[in-house]
Amino acid sequence: MKFFIINSGSSSIKYQVIEQGTEAVLASGLVERIGEVCGRLKNTSFPGSSDALETVIEQPIPDHYSGMMLVIGVLTDKKHGVICHTSEIGAIGHRVVHGGEDFRASTLITPEVIGAIRRNIPLAPLHNPANLDGIRVAMEIFPEVPQVAVFDTAFHQTMPPRAFLYALPYDLYERDRVRRYGFHGTSHRFVAGECARLLGKPLAECNLITVHLGNGCSMTAIENGRSIDTSLGMTPLEGLVMGTRCGDIDPALHLFLKQNKGMDLESIDALLNKESGLKGLCGLNDMRDIHKAAAEGNVRARLAVEVQTYRNRKYIGAFMAVLGRVDGIVFTAGIGENDPIVRAESLKGLEVFGVRLDPDKNDQRAGEARCISTADSTVRVFVIPTNEELAIAREVATLVRP
Ligand code: AMP
Repeated sequence: MKFFIINSGSSSIKYQVIEQGTEAVLASGLVERIGEVCGRLKNTSFPGSSDALETVIEQPIPDHYSGMMLVIGVLTDKKHGVICHTSEIGAIGHRVVHGGEDFRASTLITPEVIGAIRRNIPLAPLHNPANLDGIRVAMEIFPEVPQVAVFDTAFHQTMPPRAFLYALPYDLYERDRVRRYGFHGTSHRFVAGECARLLGKPLAECNLITVHLGNGCSMTAIENGRSIDTSLGMTPLEGLVMGTRCGDIDPALHLFLKQNKGMDLESIDALLNKESGLKGLCGLNDMRDIHKAAAEGNVRARLAVEVQTYRNRKYIGAFMAVLGRVDGIVFTAGIGENDPIVRAESLKGLEVFGVRLDPDKNDQRAGEARCISTADSTVRVFVIPTNEELAIAREVATLVRP
């Protein structure tokens, strides 16, 4: 059976076709600039016997339906296709950003599930409508195929109230669902599972700190395989210093910016989400560019790395206190997987808590999961590549039997 994995954004559709069982990626691609003057599809097919085949199509793509039809055209194409007919797709997995308190796990999509995703739009006004577009179109094109929703928030629904409540009037939680939800749950859960395998024990017996450092950044405290705290909050703005997002700030900053800079709420929101984080500190948001600039003497680039890694360290320390025993710290995503400097600085000073990084192992570049701590480190440290599409495919496999 083949699974079609879809991550539908407001003007894009990211997808993969994955073979169940072998977990081989047969095709992956991105439709972007939907609704703009000229759209673009880039597909890479892995037909197995031959090398990867790339297709790029540039043409107007007015909506998600035409985007999806274009993808299906490429997937079933005689030369570059990986399926002969759409009937070969046995199930479809959708990434859905916000499941609110309605979803603690992935679920088969029904009209009730669609209604619940819609009810959660106020919590993710940009993402959930785009995810629903993907679901609607996939259900139109594949009416007989089971569809599964996999939520970014579901893994964190095990957080206890002491971790998920803000110290605000309780009514705001009860009536308006204002609380911490956390995100990147699919990634945290995936690398936690892989880490348990490397530790050689069931996930349900592992205490872990998973550190997802990409453009978005988050950290999760996992006790006996369950998320008990995470750094992202009601929206993906809280916590760590990210590419363009500020992470933790004083909430009174809004009032200061309004009173002293005359800014309205929308422009403050844009400032905190799009102009802050690493970009705000040094003008650059790609960590590779930041290291290059720092090496050339750019003081603010150096400072940006320091601010981000200091915040990482502070959260790791807090989550160690929350967990008590920690079996492993896992670094993942673009920066976490590739950046030995950020990893080393994020763990600086934690030797006293039994965290000992092996500098040679940390410096080695490798694409696979590996341990980078010394043999005598009581807390083992790992680099584990995340794979959200595969994680979604595994969720689909648990809900859809051939
Ligand atoms: P992600 O959101 O997981 O795709 O991560 C994207 C970010 O990873 C980029 O913005 C870069 O800052 C970072 N990144 C990717 N490759 C490297 C690398 N080799 N060294 C340092 N950072 C990297």
